[in-house]
Amino acid sequence: MNTTAERTTARAATPGATGSPEHAESWYAATARSSPERPPLEGEVTTDVCVVGAGFSGMVTALHLAERGYAVTVLEAARVGWGASGRNGGQLVNGYSRDLDTIEKRYGAEAARQLGSMAFEGADIIRELVKRYDIDCGLRSGGLFAAFNRRQLRELEQQKKEWEAYGHQGLELLDGDSIRAHVATDLYAGGLLDRWSGHVHPLNLVLGEAEVVESLGGTIHEHSAVTRVEQGERPVVHTANGRVSAKHVVLCGNAYLGDAVPALRDRVMPVSTQVVATEPLEQAVIERLFPSGVCVEDCNYILDYYRPTADNRILFGGGTIYGGVTPDDIVGKLRPHLARTFPELADARIDYAWSGNFALTLTRIPHMGRLNGPVYFTHGYSGHGVTTTHLAGRLIAEAIDGEPERFDAFASLRNYPFPGGRALRVPLTMLGAWYYLAKEKIGL
Ligand SMILES: Cc1cc2nc3c(=O)[nH]c(=O)nc-3n(C[C@H](O)[C@H](O)[C@H](O)COP(=O)(O)OP(=O)(O)OC[C@H]3O[C@@H](n4cnc5c(N)ncnc54)[C@H](O)[C@@H]3O)c2cc1C
Repeated sequence: MNTTAERTTARAATPGATGSPEHAESWYAATARSSPERPPLEGEVTTDVCVVGAGFSGMVTALHLAERGYAVTVLEAARVGWGASGRNGGQLVNGYSRDLDTIEKRYGAEAARQLGSMAFEGADIIRELVKRYDIDCGLRSGGLFAAFNRRQLRELEQQKKEWEAYGHQGLELLDGDSIRAHVATDLYAGGLLDRWSGHVHPLNLVLGEAEVVESLGGTIHEHSAVTRVEQGERPVVHTANGRVSAKHVVLCGNAYLGDAVPALRDRVMPVSTQVVATEPLEQAVIERLFPSGVCVEDCNYILDYYRPTADNRILFGGGTIYGGVTPDDIVGKLRPHLARTFPELADARIDYAWSGNFALTLTRIPHMGRLNGPVYFTHGYSGHGVTTTHLAGRLIAEAIDGEPERFDAFASLRNYPFPGGRALRVPLTMLGAWYYLAKEKIGL
């Protein structure tokens, strides 16, 4: 059946592409808690910390700083949670996009030790905030990495050993039979169950975090795109109709920051990924397909990720498009993956389809640091952002409050600009991706 989502599919993902500052037409936006429209910044404001961007990175930074007694002003170009944070797969994936062994080889044992000691903290922060502030965001526990073949299963075995060495005690390897206790499909050779993972309604989480920031005295301005940041001892942040003078500035625009801060422009590349939401299914069907209610991501280079929702839909995401383009036919792109996973849903109605951009770094490690003076930034979680943004927000708050050690463990890691500059970075990255996809196809 053709639904609005199926006919229109390619809702553009950026205000730049549509001129729309409203949320993407996602299942999340349709089921979001009510949230006030915050007025744009007008005139001059003085504050302790000005945060740019109201996704998880910005909101969690602001929240931790407000808890520590700082006056915080957040400037958001569109709406709170408008970016990746309000439209992602909602999966609390532990660890980083690069495994800790590779981090050790590249940056040394001490860097791996420091990052390893924080690799599971982001999910804990989410659980803590949800509990402490009673944020209603449908948080559920449990996530599954699913392997298509023995090679991927061996990699998961290795990941289990590595994570256990850093203190993770909630992992269980599954073979081709036991994985069916979690997801009813014939696709997989096995998997790794992560009981410390989980899933969440991400837009409701970030909107809840915004309410906490405000309850702690912080101010949020929506429809307030930052056009320029004057760096220096006392930085000044400019929007079309106002400016904020702050002791510290934190840049959290991630894949959507664009050209506002030229020094950060080529350090990450926007990459789009898409999600569809099926019609509500019979509860019995959901319980049969997801007996334990966990979320799933597979181990392919370009992966599928999916999970059940509180209203018995399946949210199914996948695909990556380097450069951050929104495809014309999202349903056409994802339906074959949904059908391959659950053949009985081949013709299921799709009620929502949307796209969003995350930010990739060349190293696949989050990029945090300082520009001139007290101007901090964090971005480039490379697809693992739900948990890592929450860690980053805490680390930046610690650094501003005089405890920079853990932030510096990330800030000291070398980040490289994408080769080829604006014109060639997409084709060069695609070449790299084809190499990995070809290896995957021939089973290497
Ligand atoms: C479709 C999709 C699915 C994903 N699924 C998962 C998943 O299941 N699990 C997972 O771990 N990660 C996932 N990710 C990645 C994750 O969502 C992101 O890494 C994370 O949300 C990034 O948060 P952020 O706050 O840094 O950026 P964003 O949430 O993108 O927020 C940046 C904000 O900054 C604002 N902004 C930008 N420029 C300016 C400016 N000049 N002035 C003012 N404001 C500005 C934007 O409007 C935006 O609201 C997914 C991403 C997408 C797109």
